Amino acid sequence: MTFDLTPEQDQLRDAVRALGRRYGHGYFVEKAKAGEHTTELWAEAGRLGYLGVNIPTEYGGGGGGITELAIVCEELAAAGCPLLLLVVSPAIAATVLYRHGTEEQRKRHLPGLADGSQKIVFAITEPEAGSNFHRLGTVARRDGDGWLLNGRKCYISGVDEAGHVLVVARTEDSSTGRLKPALFLVPTDAAGLTRSKLDMEIVSPENQFLLYLDDVRVPADALLGESLDAGLPALFAGLNPERITVAAMGAGTGRYAIERASEYTATRKVWGGRSIGSHQGVSHPLAHAAVQVELARLMIQKAATLYDAGRDLEAGVSGNMAKYAAGEAAALAVDTAVQVLGGAGMTTEYGVATLLGAVRAGRIAPVSREMILNFVAQHVLGQDKSY
Ligand SMILES: Cc1cc2nc3c(=O)[nH]c(=O)nc-3n(C[C@H](O)[C@H](O)[C@H](O)COP(=O)(O)OP(=O)(O)OC[C@H]3O[C@@H](n4cnc5c(N)ncnc54)[C@H](O)[C@@H]3O)c2cc1C
Repeated sequence: MTFDLTPEQDQLRDAVRALGRRYGHGYFVEKAKAGEHTTELWAEAGRLGYLGVNIPTEYGGGGGGITELAIVCEELAAAGCPLLLLVVSPAIAATVLYRHGTEEQRKRHLPGLADGSQKIVFAITEPEAGSNFHRLGTVARRDGDGWLLNGRKCYISGVDEAGHVLVVARTEDSSTGRLKPALFLVPTDAAGLTRSKLDMEIVSPENQFLLYLDDVRVPADALLGESLDAGLPALFAGLNPERITVAAMGAGTGRYAIERASEYTATRKVWGGRSIGSHQGVSHPLAHAAVQVELARLMIQKAATLYDAGRDLEAGVSGNMAKYAAGEAAALAVDTAVQVLGGAGMTTEYGVATLLGAVRAGRIAPVSREMILNFVAQHVLGQDKSY
């Protein structure tokens, strides 16, 4: 067993850290508050090959795995730039495409995802179904050579920045008459696809949308994969990369908050010559948060290693646990950082309260802490399903 990164992974981590620090949290917040996107950072990360680290080299990527993409997510977040679309476009969409797309789909989309010139976002959540994906109501019906899509999606991130949205819909299986899931690559400017931006209490340059699909016509080759049978495995293929990279983003955010707070408490003096960090009422909560973040990082490393070794089922358990641990640790770290900074903690300048909304959302999305506990109770502890 080794806890060391390879020399290449070490180099990647250092390089991404340097890039993230060059932009920093100030840039991230400025873009968010101006209603703009982190276009420059995304483009530079793409040019440097960081957005495509997990995409096979024959499609313009770096040929690495989720370990490498998790490093990119964590280090950008640790520099104060937690980019949610890393989880959606390179982690979910690229994985689903190279594992289950047709060769034509891979050739068409992966090079753009790898160099960052293209983004594909992911739409599964629906207002009525919520966490219960078995209730999805978006339906795809055959229409001549192509498909006709109807339904509603909610909280879909980054639709305004993406060329395509990977829509999860239901189709009818003619052999059984049962509805089965399928994924469709829908251009964001398709006729019949409209969106409205949700007002979210998160300081983020990335936006969430309600999507309305009203008789959206797509050609046959918009169906992801060779046949309808690709739908379910493709849906599952995106889950582990999603869990692992969102956990890495949480761990990075936690590291960022603890670093900001530690710098402050080591130098702030309000009782004579001693720093406030010398008081254990201040240093212990920070140390506790640092332990939680480090534990989460270990689980992320385990999950990524298992995933990259092709051990998907075990990676599923570790990935869910890593996502749970990192979500909790990030929320704790940011809240603790705000507290130990006192009034400064609530200012924009000190750059920690600006993350409160994001880390709070990290306990809900992309999978809530309760649904992970359900998964662990059922699949690890052998408990009956309650729902
Ligand atoms: C910032 C943000 C970005 C997002 N981006 C995307 C995106 O890009 N694409 C996308 O498809 N979706 C996206 N989502 C949606 C996200 O995945 C969902 O919000 C999440 O899965 C929870 O679904 P829900 O909001 O409908 O909650 P509900 O299902 O209504 O649940 C509400 C609460 O009840 C709990 N609950 C529900 N069922 C159970 C149960 N059986 N046992 C115990 N507790 C339960 C939940 O854990 C939750 O706390 C995003 C959400 C946010 C906040």
